[in-house]
Amino acid sequence: MSDLSDLYQSVILDHNRSPRNCRAMTDAHREAEGFNPLCGDRLRVWVRFGAGDLIEDVSFEGIGCAISQASASLMTTAVKGKTRAQALELFDRFHDLVAGEPPVPPGRSLGKLQVFEGVREYPSRVKCASLAWHALRSALADEPAR
Ligand code: ZN
Repeated sequence: MSDLSDLYQSVILDHNRSPRNCRAMTDAHREAEGFNPLCGDRLRVWVRFGAGDLIEDVSFEGIGCAISQASASLMTTAVKGKTRAQALELFDRFHDLVAGEPPVPPGRSLGKLQVFEGVREYPSRVKCASLAWHALRSALADEPAR
């Protein structure tokens, strides 16, 4: 295993062990659920908006594999403080990273989210890594939360 994938591994393990923003939110404006039947991952995402469509707070709770938990944790840290539009753009970029056509577009580093780049080699794990993002997108969609 290369040093780089060691680093990626440690980020995922860290976020799985101590997930950030892992709590139910009682004053959320939106919420949505995600379920990945392939792996059994299940989670719920909450979003609270501030002024100007800013995502003031975002949290999640759920059960699932290390990749789904770490991805949910990293997702919350990535979109907190962003606008709704920026978060949706990030969703697209993350989706490209884990499930888009190769190669990954250059100059589009996603910071810590880049740790999930390796997932694209394991199609069965793509849904684990993208579950929280799909739940976020549902929560941000204009339709009422499901
Ligand atoms: Zn999973």
